[in-house]
Amino acid sequence: MNSPAQPRCIRPRYIRIDARDNVAVVVNQGCLQAGSVFPCGLVLTEPIPEAHKVALADLAEGAAVLRYGVVIGYAKQAIARGSRVHEGLMTAPTAPLLADCPLATAVPGPLPKLDGYTFDGYRNSDGSVGTKNILAISTTVQCVAATVDYAVRRIKAEILPHYPNVDDVVAIAHHYGCGVAIDAPGAAIPIRTLRNLSLNPNFGGEMLLVSLGCEKLQPARMIPDGTFPVFADELSVAVLQDAEQGFGEMVANIMAQAEKKLKRLNERRRVSCSAADLVVGLQCGGSDAFSGVTANPAVGWAADLLVRAGATVMFSEVTEVRDAAHLLTARSATPEIANDFIREMAWYDAYLESGGADRQANPTPGNKKGGLANVVEKAMGSVAKAGSTALMGVVAPGERVTQKGLVFAATPASDFICGTLQLAAAMNMHIFTTGRGTPYGLSVVPVIKVATNSGLAGRWHDLIDVDAGRIATADATVEEVGWEIFRLILEVASGRKKTWADHWGLHNEFVLFNPGPVT
Ligand code: CA
Repeated sequence: MNSPAQPRCIRPRYIRIDARDNVAVVVNQGCLQAGSVFPCGLVLTEPIPEAHKVALADLAEGAAVLRYGVVIGYAKQAIARGSRVHEGLMTAPTAPLLADCPLATAVPGPLPKLDGYTFDGYRNSDGSVGTKNILAISTTVQCVAATVDYAVRRIKAEILPHYPNVDDVVAIAHHYGCGVAIDAPGAAIPIRTLRNLSLNPNFGGEMLLVSLGCEKLQPARMIPDGTFPVFADELSVAVLQDAEQGFGEMVANIMAQAEKKLKRLNERRRVSCSAADLVVGLQCGGSDAFSGVTANPAVGWAADLLVRAGATVMFSEVTEVRDAAHLLTARSATPEIANDFIREMAWYDAYLESGGADRQANPTPGNKKGGLANVVEKAMGSVAKAGSTALMGVVAPGERVTQKGLVFAATPASDFICGTLQLAAAMNMHIFTTGRGTPYGLSVVPVIKVATNSGLAGRWHDLIDVDAGRIATADATVEEVGWEIFRLILEVASGRKKTWADHWGLHNEFVLFNPGPVT
């Protein structure tokens, strides 16, 4: 720790990730002034804010700018040693060609197994495990959302108090279901997302679906008979247009069906489950240049621990891994998995192109203010979340994950869409890293928020669950914070500890990914 006589800000520090890097990230809080001298003798030629990059060597015009040991850009002009390297001084490299990606050529060997780690969860008849005990009321169409919302308010006030083992009642409201080209190829994604969302392990297989009656997405299309015979033994459907006695009857019908489900959910008890029953979704939002230095590597360490314990770890966000495609295909356990990954990248390339955009549309003004020059730099930091193990599976948006180990679940990077799709993929715990800060949360699973820098963790002491900024200030190692996250996951999954998002009830809406046309 620093004494008050030696404030941290007067000892310039930077973090260089890879020995090949010719830029590093300034880690002092606030801003270092011109003339600041680093322990290695490097002198700043201009002020550089926290999390922004400094040139470690003189870079000629056209020279490759290296971070994470990879090219994140090319110098548009000569850049002097000790000066700031930002977006305006670099051209971004092109994305790796999918046709040239190596298939399963650098598959990491298995890490030693980690036995004996458990959590207390709700075991379901299909073998999946819940970390919360929630009654979900699914909907086929937006038309019913306000009515379901009204019914949920009354269920919570009048019925839920009689069933103390149930944590919450959640309406799965959305904007899909009618006014859409329901047979277009893109429609498959929102439809299967809604189907799999209602089968999230935290809902205990108790399915209540509210339909209007005349909508395009009919209940039988959303949940076809026999799709999930093991898990969902009884699907209850309330059709609003069947009500003869008006709104009161509609609401009474929903409430009566909800009470039957609540009775059964109330019988659920937490039992000791192996850490292998966790399905942990990883995501980042509001990234900065620290993301790839502190929070994401620490989450990556936790991801490796989870994989060693036999769990499923999901990473997502296509535009944030696109520039690391060649590394992830090489890391894939088999050529088939690598080809599945390439298929998802190619689909998304075409999707973006049809909208006149490419992956460069990903970084936000806040990302850039936070020191990230472009999507390549953001991607290399983002992929650190995935740890170091072999890629064991790939699923398309909205599909359910059944594979253990590290899995890529293809989703957009949008926080809410990614979260919703990871819930559909059967996620029961969510880890979210942030540098700029966002009070994001989900109703269905606990969201552990990890700050990339201690400034944010300090300001938002009642929103951030883990401060990974201690890695930048040398107060903790990646390994230590990784273990802290792993242990916190087990505590939170057991219901023994609450995340800040759950403490305040910060639950963002479900947002569907609909690449299909609306009518
Ligand atoms: Ca995101």
